[in-house]
Amino acid sequence: MQSWVNRKHGTLTFRLTQVLTGHGCFGRYLCRIGRESSSGCHHCSDSFEDTALHAVQVCSAWDEERRAIVASIRLHLSLSAVVQAMVGGQPGWDAVTSFCEAVMSAKEAAERERERSAALISRRNNRTQRRTTHDLQPP
Ligand SMILES: [Zn+2]
Repeated sequence: MQSWVNRKHGTLTFRLTQVLTGHGCFGRYLCRIGRESSSGCHHCSDSFEDTALHAVQVCSAWDEERRAIVASIRLHLSLSAVVQAMVGGQPGWDAVTSFCEAVMSAKEAAERERERSAALISRRNNRTQRRTTHDLQPP
């Protein structure tokens, strides 16, 4: 059971807030706060900048999630349509929350994976460095 389900209408989840504010697992934000070196999207090759709007409206990685929410709120994903659906009642709010949860949890998982491989690479480099230093020691 997803943790956001059964909240009352109007409850902002952590991931919904990330999408609404743009402060979250988005390339542009991560780059701005120094967590990533580029602001590009890691999930598609369409964009030089990964923003909340890119994730909601454009990114091809989330086509399936987008189809589900468009079917559910019967509107295109413009900002005003999203806000209208959210304030319109529980079903619209849940559809938007569900979309944000699905997209953001996938983005977070991908970010964790990138961090993990970066950590592995830097550990490997450290080991190589140590060995190199050791090899250079006089006998
Ligand atoms: Zn993208």
